[in-house]
Amino acid sequence: MQFHLDGFRPGDPSIADATAALPPTAPDRPLPDHVDVLIVGSGPTGLTLASQLAAFPDLSLCLAEAKPGPLQLGQADGIACRTMEMFQAFGFADRVLKEAYWVNETVFWKPDPDAPHHIRRSDRIQDVEDGLSEMPHVILNQARVHDFYLELMRHSPSGLVPHYGRRLLDVDLGRTTDHHVAATFERSDGTTETVRARYVVGCDGARSQVRRSIGRELVGDAANHAWGVMDVLAVTDFPDIRFKCIIHSSEGNIIVIPREGGYLVRIYVELGKLRDDERVHSRDITVEQLIAAANRVFAPYTVQVEEVAWWSVYEIGQRLCDRFDDVLVDDVPQRLPRVFIAGDACHTHSPKAGQGMNVSMRDGFNLGWKLASVLRRQCRPEILHSYSEERRAVAKQLIDFDRELSAMMGARPKMSADDAEGVDPIVFQQYFQQHGRFTAGVATQYRPSTLTGGDAHQHLAAGFLIGTRFHSAPVVRLADARPMQLGHVITADGRWRLFAFADAPAPDDPESRLAALCRLLSDDPRSPVVRFTPTGADGDVVFDVRAVLQQSHRSLTIRDVPTLLRPTKGRFGLVDHEKVFCPDLVHGPDIFELRGVDRADGALVLVRPDQHVAHVLPLDAFEELFSFFDAFMLEPG
Ligand code: FAD
Repeated sequence: MQFHLDGFRPGDPSIADATAALPPTAPDRPLPDHVDVLIVGSGPTGLTLASQLAAFPDLSLCLAEAKPGPLQLGQADGIACRTMEMFQAFGFADRVLKEAYWVNETVFWKPDPDAPHHIRRSDRIQDVEDGLSEMPHVILNQARVHDFYLELMRHSPSGLVPHYGRRLLDVDLGRTTDHHVAATFERSDGTTETVRARYVVGCDGARSQVRRSIGRELVGDAANHAWGVMDVLAVTDFPDIRFKCIIHSSEGNIIVIPREGGYLVRIYVELGKLRDDERVHSRDITVEQLIAAANRVFAPYTVQVEEVAWWSVYEIGQRLCDRFDDVLVDDVPQRLPRVFIAGDACHTHSPKAGQGMNVSMRDGFNLGWKLASVLRRQCRPEILHSYSEERRAVAKQLIDFDRELSAMMGARPKMSADDAEGVDPIVFQQYFQQHGRFTAGVATQYRPSTLTGGDAHQHLAAGFLIGTRFHSAPVVRLADARPMQLGHVITADGRWRLFAFADAPAPDDPESRLAALCRLLSDDPRSPVVRFTPTGADGDVVFDVRAVLQQSHRSLTIRDVPTLLRPTKGRFGLVDHEKVFCPDLVHGPDIFELRGVDRADGALVLVRPDQHVAHVLPLDAFEELFSFFDAFMLEPG
């Protein structure tokens, strides 16, 4: 898909006048008095959280944003494989795949030893290692990601639309009624409005007012590194302009990020360290200076900029909050959180690893299902403590990684063997490759907790590592022979998935442990499906049980599987035929082999609503299954 040929245009490239297609922002719509969840800030974090919560029409929501309307251009653009998997769950990954630039290979450049002021290509590598994810690493304007979320929210059961032009002044934890927190906003005409909310989530960026209101601080390095970034349409003889490039030169370092549409390119220019008391804006840097600096690095090639779509200079320090909610560590046993912070509001880092938007959105995904399940009385409110515990550990890892990467990126290239201060570009390249799993976003592993089991049975499904995201694999659907990714049945609907990988006997064999599990899940009064599904609701509204058989899809029919796996649903009692899968024994790979699932015993893989593996159990570990869900779920009241 090519676009932006005659100049950059914001919005949907498939619509002739994309700005006319934007929904009205309705600034006069008053804020609601009371809501279940108030989200402050409609950046990628707030939009991910809001989109997850908007799936539940029984929740009342408010998304308030200081800006007068949606973001049109600029800011982040890297979308990691793991984030694409999340977009798949939200239902818009295919649109991102169509529009985005795909980062298939990364190219490294270094000073030419024969002409040290010129650069020379040193290597070209595959960007993401084989088999890491079914999704590619892609690049797309952050504003387009916002557009997809805004559309999803607008069309969701809640029909949620942000309230623009509302700047949060304060969150008052003291002024509560009925356990509500009061938040005061100012409109552009100076008038104020107050919203009372059961929960407030600050997704209001690095200068978060919510963070300040709950007395949390970003701690770490001061903003110490200055960066220039520009999205440009340019004519150049640089041969790798359509590849992601990391260029170390004797004149400085830059990162080239090709952008969507085939012509646009982003160039990050490192502007060096700031003094302790210095702010980047005091340097009065112009875009012409950025272009000149880039040309010095690109020599002997030239970059003639024809149009600058967006540019910015900004400073970054690696900083982190000690907790991501309003509960002090010592108070955790006796107090529940009511205010949370997410995204840049609680962690900031450089754009070099392309993680800011990605990690922030995944904060929102982690918190969304937890808030929904507590508000809908499916889970105990104590699970809300796990948000800060899980996501702070991820942010801490990111900040440590970013500090190391930034130091290497910021250093000048080693010019000789006895140059102790320079960084060897080859060493940098090795570091970049070794950390590929991390930058792809798939290295996150939540520690054992109420929501994440221990590893006693991990050997039954070694490739579904407990605490990590469910690593999808290809399967064939039994009922209609459709080849597909198993992970794509996990949609962002707040449900738990129970993937039962069958033992060796066929499901209609009296010895089948899969069949015994299904009988227990359907009939036993202690079964989580029986206990936690509301009376009269479809059987899979809380737990979506799916099975993967070992036999070929041609050797069985859907009538051979237990009735739990072909449930009748809806007002007509129609059969859901899409719960059972088989390995692709013709084209491969076989999911049992690929993910190391025990063929003799099978395995039950429990997956949280945010796609992370919660537990791996034997098919007949009924007591462990009951007690796992008993620890945090509530029977319908
Ligand atoms: P943000 O995207 O910052 O969103 C916060 C939202 O809250 C904003 O819409 C803001 O208007 C709103 N808000 C703030 N205060 C209030 C208030 N008091 N009341 C109501 N609303 C409020 N990352 C990269 O990887 N590469 C880049 O080149 C890059 N460039 C950036 C340039 C800029 C100018 C900024 C701000 C960020 C940039 N980032 C970049 C960082 C990246 O955009 C963030 O990591 C990512 O957007 C984090 O998302 P967020 O939703 O947590 O915060």
